[in-house]
Amino acid sequence: MKTIFIKSGKYIFKNRWRKFFVFLITVPVILFFILNIIFPLRIKVEYSQIVTAGDGTVIHAFLTNDEKWRMMLEPKEISPLLKKAILYKEDKWFYYHFGVNPVAICRAAFNNLFHLRRTSGASTITMQVVRLLYPKDRTYGNKVLEMFRAMQLELRYSKEEILQLYLNLVPYGGNIEGVKAASLLYFGRMPDKLSLAQVTTLAIIPNRPISLKPGKKNDAIVNARNKWLRRMKADKVFNRQDLEDAFHEPLEAQRQDAPKFAPHFAVRMKQLYPGRPIIKTSLNRFSQDKITAIAYNYSKRLKSLNINNAAVLVINNKTGNVEAYLGSPDITDNFHNGQVDGITAVRSPGSTLKPLVYALAFDKGLATPKTVIADVAVNFDGYAPENFNSKFNGNVTVDKALSYSLNIPAVKTLNQLGIATLTDKLKQAGFKQIMKDENKLGLSTVLGGCGVSLEELTSMYASFAHEGKFSRLKFLKEDSLSNEIQLVSPGSAFMTSEILTTLIRPDLPNNFLSSMHIPKIAWKTGTSYGRRDAWSIGYNVNYTIGVWIGNFSGEGVPELTGADMATPLLFEIFNSLDYNSGKKWFRQPDDLDFRLVCPVSGKVPDDFCESQIIDYFIPKVSSAQKCNHMKPVYISPDESFSYCTSCLPHDGYKTKLYPNPDPDLIAYYETEHILYEKIPPHNKNCSRIFSLKPPAITSPTNGKEYIVEKGQDQQLMLSCNADNEVKTVYWYINDRFFKSCGSTEKIFFVPEQGQVKISCSDDKGRNTNIVIKVSNL
Ligand SMILES: [Zn+2]
Ligand SMILES: [Zn+2]
Repeated sequence: MKTIFIKSGKYIFKNRWRKFFVFLITVPVILFFILNIIFPLRIKVEYSQIVTAGDGTVIHAFLTNDEKWRMMLEPKEISPLLKKAILYKEDKWFYYHFGVNPVAICRAAFNNLFHLRRTSGASTITMQVVRLLYPKDRTYGNKVLEMFRAMQLELRYSKEEILQLYLNLVPYGGNIEGVKAASLLYFGRMPDKLSLAQVTTLAIIPNRPISLKPGKKNDAIVNARNKWLRRMKADKVFNRQDLEDAFHEPLEAQRQDAPKFAPHFAVRMKQLYPGRPIIKTSLNRFSQDKITAIAYNYSKRLKSLNINNAAVLVINNKTGNVEAYLGSPDITDNFHNGQVDGITAVRSPGSTLKPLVYALAFDKGLATPKTVIADVAVNFDGYAPENFNSKFNGNVTVDKALSYSLNIPAVKTLNQLGIATLTDKLKQAGFKQIMKDENKLGLSTVLGGCGVSLEELTSMYASFAHEGKFSRLKFLKEDSLSNEIQLVSPGSAFMTSEILTTLIRPDLPNNFLSSMHIPKIAWKTGTSYGRRDAWSIGYNVNYTIGVWIGNFSGEGVPELTGADMATPLLFEIFNSLDYNSGKKWFRQPDDLDFRLVCPVSGKVPDDFCESQIIDYFIPKVSSAQKCNHMKPVYISPDESFSYCTSCLPHDGYKTKLYPNPDPDLIAYYETEHILYEKIPPHNKNCSRIFSLKPPAITSPTNGKEYIVEKGQDQQLMLSCNADNEVKTVYWYINDRFFKSCGSTEKIFFVPEQGQVKISCSDDKGRNTNIVIKVSNL
């Protein structure tokens, strides 16, 4: 400020120089910014996608589209050692220049002019990045362009980002680019784990990637490395002892294959997160290796049975993370479609949806574990399910029905629940094929008449281990347990888990003795129609594990059942991953309580119920209906006939309790010739008209011959005259249950040729048989 007031010649002279210098600096700066706008920097680097496990190690890497191994470093992977060595070698003034180092350029120009020794180092790291991004011939024009681009780079990026870009792009011979790919593929370790000797090696190779090819020219590399180590020693770059150790470190660099663990998982991640250079998953290396080895060996043993594929999914229940993922045991087995990912493949679930159906019934108050359901012949509009062994069991409790995986109680429960309740829940739990087929699904869904994937099933089961809360699979470390859906109540989940831990059940594997040491688990098996799929899905406090065994080709195999084929593998995996989990189990939730029920019905006992058993129930939800397993009947003193209210005499009668089974159970007793206490016949002098007769079959006519056209599936009508009191009649064709219907309803059937026995039973247990003859035209 002082000079403003001094108007001397000296000042004017100084002022001119100043203007000149300002001009000299301003014009290029303005020019740079104009050019920067006209020729903006465009950087697009494609990286090899890598998939890392929960511990940060690389489990799988994919080539870039230009077939390069070019992996992106993370800032934390650039160790101080690596940074120091690279900067020392390439660009000592990196943090002090603006992309171009004028001193180095002047020195290089001077040396060139006087033909002195060629000096490297005129190119800054920033300029090298430009050259790596836009390779061009080495001309003076291109050199200027390079400087311009380097300054643009400095303008846009921080020093750390530029250094990172350099370390990502620097060539290491062949198709390896960048320090990360080099350290993984030559040293088999992550870049932040490299020693000083290794770091120095990686610092010198980029200048001579061919003559210093690791694995091929290791002696030459050691010479060059030690030369640089000596220089570092002279310049005191590193601690003396560290350098001394580095001198003596042997070079064990060998070209290695890129990691290829968990291939189905990795491919899935690549598809889910395209373009993401580092996909950080929660996969557990230890668990993945274990289940891969177990499933591979297990699967090998099944090959002789012509069972060729398997899939295993392990979810950690504490974190909700996918801990292991095996799409098929051998991805290279092309002959058996090993590349198919069995975890996402849509298959028939067999019985594996039954636990959800019962759990939903618990929540609707329709049942508790001790609720009794008749496992007898049923027919829902033509759908007549059978059990796995084609036998009926009569009255069973829900817990037995589920642990024995009986079909009819499950179908009856779903019928009561309504198919929409089930499909709504499955939709909430992300069952994709169910969403598509929603309108086509019927009661057979609970027996496997639908399409699901192992992933969907396993994550659904995981919600039983998570107080009924469902959350989508967590693949990535960053995923959180958000958007949880209360699929079933905590109480319902707990009851279901208790039932699924039952050990006395038919779906224990044959070699159960060898599995005696398994940790406590709840599990359910499934076998699809035609024995095409064997499932076993289990869980405890720590893990939910889903196992599928079968053929991707869809070929069925007689030996293929969930119990015999899938459960042994499930147990083996639990044994291996969770062998010392102890006896820790789920805590009984607050919404669940105990009550006493009548063992005959599972309902709240009435005065006549002889005994009581303990049962879980959800207060205010579970049905509080009283037991009616017996009903009082007025009978004559000699118990030879019964009265109704209209014929009941003033005295001379007694009241007696008789079993009150449902009509379908009566029909079952009759067919199976099971004795049960029947109500004596009705008072024959009763003024109300009662027929004591069984239903009379009015169509077809007894003893008649019926001629039907061959191959036309012609139908015959079934009808009867039954008692007014009769509501339901049960039709049997050749002693096989056909259909039940209202007593006045007419139904149709397609007769087989020859003698056909037709039986009609009413809901009081009275039966009529006729025989007809059917001939073809
Ligand atoms: Zn009772
Ligand atoms: Zn009467």
